[in-house]
Amino acid sequence: MTRHTLPSDLIPHWIDGQAAHGGHERAPVFDPAHGRIAREVCLADAALVDRAVASASSAQVAWAATAPQRRARVLFRMKELVERYSLDLARLITREHGKTLPDAQGEVQRGLEVIEFACGIPHLLQGQYSDHVGGGIANWSQRMPLGVVAGITPFNFPFMVPMWMAPVALACGNSFILKPSERDPSPSLLTAELFREAGLPDGVFSVIQGDRVAVDALLAHPEVRAVSFVGSTPVARHIHETASRQGKRAQALGGAKNHMVVMPDADIGQAADALIGAAYGSAGERCMAISVAVAVGDIGDALVEAVRMRAQKLNIGDGEGEGVDMGPVVTAAHRERIVSLIDAGVTEGATLVLDGRRHVVAGHEQGFFLGATLFDHVTPGMRIWREEIFGPVLCVVRAASLAEAITLVNRHEYGNGVSLYTRDGAAAREFGQRIEAGMVGINVPIPVPMAWHSFGGWKQSLFGDLHAYGEEGVRFYTRYKSIMQRWPDSGSRGPEFVMPVN
Ligand code: NAD
Repeated sequence: MTRHTLPSDLIPHWIDGQAAHGGHERAPVFDPAHGRIAREVCLADAALVDRAVASASSAQVAWAATAPQRRARVLFRMKELVERYSLDLARLITREHGKTLPDAQGEVQRGLEVIEFACGIPHLLQGQYSDHVGGGIANWSQRMPLGVVAGITPFNFPFMVPMWMAPVALACGNSFILKPSERDPSPSLLTAELFREAGLPDGVFSVIQGDRVAVDALLAHPEVRAVSFVGSTPVARHIHETASRQGKRAQALGGAKNHMVVMPDADIGQAADALIGAAYGSAGERCMAISVAVAVGDIGDALVEAVRMRAQKLNIGDGEGEGVDMGPVVTAAHRERIVSLIDAGVTEGATLVLDGRRHVVAGHEQGFFLGATLFDHVTPGMRIWREEIFGPVLCVVRAASLAEAITLVNRHEYGNGVSLYTRDGAAAREFGQRIEAGMVGINVPIPVPMAWHSFGGWKQSLFGDLHAYGEEGVRFYTRYKSIMQRWPDSGSRGPEFVMPVN
């Protein structure tokens, strides 16, 4: 089924259940496979943010008073609509992000799973009850919504990451304002349309397109009670600090440099296949991409050769094409940054096994393409080990032992995901316990937790106390209330001046 209601040339905001235009400027939105401007997006100013918050704030009162199971029914209908229009969502993602259509469909599916989780949230909102704690008093606790909450999301998952936040926030009784990436803004609007069709009252889900101006206005607005952010580490730190200073609840997920440690007993074919998908899938633009392989003991030469053989056969092209493994990166500016980091790796003395800098796709000469790039003999002093490249570049580091590999991974400033390939259960156990990262895979290259667990990194990959979605998400989007209640038979015992004890 296809929808035809989407705007084609100027992408608006979504306020009070309808499209809204205006703002301080417009920004170009590219078609990365052809390297041209495809449309423009409005960039909101503070006045538009005020309008969205006012609408979200007034709609939230009735939404919070709606019974949790009725709120969940809206999410059930949203689940059906996302299933029905999943291909439309995926096409919008591919068209502006560049990832392959099957990969975009996988993104929609992982977002859908959080909606499915949110359908059961009434169960997690139930409180605890203690009858007769003394003198006819009952004490119970309950989780209450916060009010208006905002989500600021990155370009690399324009549907899935907003779904890490919005379904959970909405099921808990909040209204939600999404500020998506200005680089691929269209999926947010189809998401808004589908929420409306699912029966969500106007104003409960809004979209503010924009850049830093819109984010600053959201951070400064006193009625925005909580901010969830996913994006790069410097911005994550800024968002967490600013929101916290304003007295808001904040969770800010940042960048990553995910390592896969390959033990000498690993199946080389399996490990190489896993590395190819995890390093070059989505052109490396995933926060859970593997960007460093740590070859332990004597496996290095064989592993590098197995990866090289596979990487040079990748089918690189337009993400909408048949059988394409890897599409373009998101913008020309991002492509230039990746090329400059590959240049730095060469200058710093790493061995360039495969060079993707000059890769051209026939018929797409202006597209933002790069070939798969593979570096061997990378060392921790090099920029290509320290910095997040966020492109199709895999670095191989050599380590003498598992202990050395663990020390190497743990000294990195990021701690998002990590993986180990081995056939040795004792090594797997030691790795799982000692590694300093929020998400660990054992013979699983990209260990993104299921929707009823929670997603988040450690160290510079997450600022805040709670991870995204799952029960952690429910805690983030609710505040705890304890109520003590007594219905005395009659009369009064007079004033009490001593701390009540039982
Ligand atoms: P980004 O930090 O440039 O942008 C993220 C969001 O912040 C966008 O909505 C953007 O408009 C806004 N923004 C950008 N600069 C800002 C500023 N100075 N002040 C206020 N807001 C600003 O990130 P990106 O390039 O869109 O996404 C890629 C990054 O996101 C990578 O670092 C990747 O690792 C990270 N990421 C992390 C996770 C995770 O779960 N940890 C998931 C996905 C992406």
